[in-house]
Formats: sequence, structure tokens, C-alpha cells
Amino acid sequence: MNSSYIKSISRAWIEVDLDAIIHNMYLVRRVQQGTAIMPIVKAEAYGHGLVAISKLLDREDIAFLGVANVLEAKKIHDAGVLTKPFILGATFPGEREEIVKNDWRCIISTLEDLSDFEQISKKYGKIFNVHLAVDTGMGREGFAPHGLGNVLNKLNHSTNIKLEGIMTHCPAADVDIQYTENEIRLFEKCVKLVECHHTLKYKSIASSACALGYKLQCSNLVRLGLLTYGIPPIDSDLCNELRPTLFFFARVLTVRELQAGSTISYGCTYKVSKNMRVATLGVGYACGWSRHLSQSPAKVYINGHYCSLLGRVTMDQIVVDVTHLPCVKSGDIAELIGKHITVNQLAEWAGTIGCEIYARLGSRVPRIYKSNTPQVINTRSV
Ligand SMILES: *Cc1c(COP(=O)(O)O)cnc(C)c1O
Repeated sequence: MNSSYIKSISRAWIEVDLDAIIHNMYLVRRVQQGTAIMPIVKAEAYGHGLVAISKLLDREDIAFLGVANVLEAKKIHDAGVLTKPFILGATFPGEREEIVKNDWRCIISTLEDLSDFEQISKKYGKIFNVHLAVDTGMGREGFAPHGLGNVLNKLNHSTNIKLEGIMTHCPAADVDIQYTENEIRLFEKCVKLVECHHTLKYKSIASSACALGYKLQCSNLVRLGLLTYGIPPIDSDLCNELRPTLFFFARVLTVRELQAGSTISYGCTYKVSKNMRVATLGVGYACGWSRHLSQSPAKVYINGHYCSLLGRVTMDQIVVDVTHLPCVKSGDIAELIGKHITVNQLAEWAGTIGCEIYARLGSRVPRIYKSNTPQVINTRSV
């Protein structure tokens, strides 16, 4: 299916600027010279499309592709992507054989993880590369810094495990500089301790906010989600150079005149007080235009003008005020996220963060990929 056909039949669609993704990702090198990069493609590449974005990034100078679980790893592996997936969260014992066989990367967080991987690696006669997770404040996974002695001891006696890296994740890099500076010092100490016994190829403390906001002598691998997808992780001059990567559009289905006294949408929460013109758009919460936007100041952008949401968001449709647009007609295009409405603006209206808006964009919404070099269109159903 070509993109003009998809656009012609779709009520709502997403256009992804592939060149912007590449541009954004490499911006990190301005602040962390020479760092290795792990772009994050979990959660359908923050809504942009797991396989398409992984294929794009596979051609770039990256170390790993960050995924959330084995299913995501398998999807990109089966699609022919050669860059190794890095599973960011904990793994279950039942999925570890597949990880070892494919030489995918993951973290170890407990001594049991370590012995399990050791056993499996022996069984397959492989040397398995692991990354030691340290908990410096996130509280989700990893060894406590004071408990590293035990795991290092065990690693020294292991024959089939190679310690390739160490990593932690900062919970407050965007909001608490002092806390994060302390965390970086603590991570540095952990790195030094581990390096008494092992050569670490990768040391990774930074996600997007941490990578942009801090000096990181102890880190040589950054894990980039937000930055890659153009969401400013912190306030910084560099963020002015970020390019938007995702454009979300919906089509006007019908335009109608409503008389004073009419009501709009479920619960009749909106009562028409004077005659008005309204447009019904083919987008709803099943597309990722959140129901939490109901009764917020949420707007869409049609033919050069902002138009306010009226009444509740339904599964497939919304109603907006076009009284000030005499010429709007069925088939016209409304911008939902793009040049005039940023993802963070939409998130603010919905009472969440841009990242969640992206992650919840519906799988029913077709993605159209654009680039100066010819690209493929994804094969999800329209
Ligand atoms: C999701 C995730 C990231 C990416 O964070 P951003 O703030 O989007 O850059 C990095 N590291 C880990 C462990 C993650 O789970």
C-alpha cells in the first residue's frame, strides 16, 4: 500500500520523519563526545513503529537497540535487524535460553540471575555477555552498590559469563541536579570497584535527560529514548535543535450546524448555548487521542486555525468547534500533533507526559514513513 492510498482512506494517520530521528539521536555527541549510543525502541519505538525504526537505526553507528522484553527482541531479530537487542528490564528464567542462544544482551540483577545464565551458557558451550545492573536510586532493579562484592566474587569464578558492562538508571536527572550528581559519584565508585577485577567495555548511566544535562566521565554508553524521538528531556539550548519526529493527523468526517440547546457526546457534558458549526473528526481514544482530554482545553488545528474539543472523546470520533471556519468541509485535515501542537502540549492537556502520549498511540493508526532516502511503509493493518 502506498502512502497516498493510506492517507486517502484513513480517518487518522501518523507520519514519521526518519531523517529527524537520526538527526536527534546524534545530537547527543555534542555533549558526550565519542559516546556509544543505544537508541531505545521499546513500546513500538515510542509509538513510531518498532520494526521500521529498528531497521532504520540498524544502518547507523549504534551499539545496541534497547527493548523492554524478549518479544520485542524477537520481533526485530525476525525482521532481519542485525544490531543486538538489549533487554532493559528483568528476564524470566524460561526466556533465557533464547537470549543466550541469540547472544542478545540483558542485565543481571540478582545472584540467581547470574547462576542461571552461567548454567545455560555452559549447556550451549557459549560465553555470554552480561551487563551488571546497579541500583543507585531507581529502586526497580539491580544490585545495591554495597552488595557488589558478592556478585564480583561469583563472577570471578564463572567460566562462561563475560562481564561486558555495568549500568544504572537515574530517576531524577530532569528534576534534581544535586541528587543526580550524587548518584553519578556513586556509580563512579561502583565502576572503579568492578574495574579492579574486570575490563568493562560499556559503562552506562545515562538516559536522555542525564546524557544532556551532566558531565559523565564514568559513562561511555548512552540510552536514548526521548531525545531520539524529539521530546526535550530537559531545558537546554541543544533542545532547540531537536526536530519533531511524529505528526498525527485526522480527517474531518462531517460538518454540521447545531442549534442552541443541542448536546454533544456521551454524558451530554457539552450543551450548545448558541447556534454553532461543529466538525466531527475520525479520531478517538482508541487511536491514542486520550479520553482524559475530555473537558480539557484541548484543541486541534484545521486550515490555519485552532479548534476546541467539544464534549467527551469517544472511541473513534471527536467533535470540535469550527464556528469560526466557514469553509471547513468533509475530508479536510486536522493536525493533532505536529508543527502547531507539540506532543508535550497535548500531554499537558491530558494530564500526562509526552512519552505516554507517544507510547499509547493506537496500533490501528497507520504509520507513514518519510525520508529523503526511499523508505518502506509498515505493514500494520489500516
Ligand atoms: C526507557 C529507558 C531508557 C530511555 O529513557 P529516555 O528518558 O526516554 O531517554 C533508558 N534506560 C532504561 C533502563 C529505560 O528503561
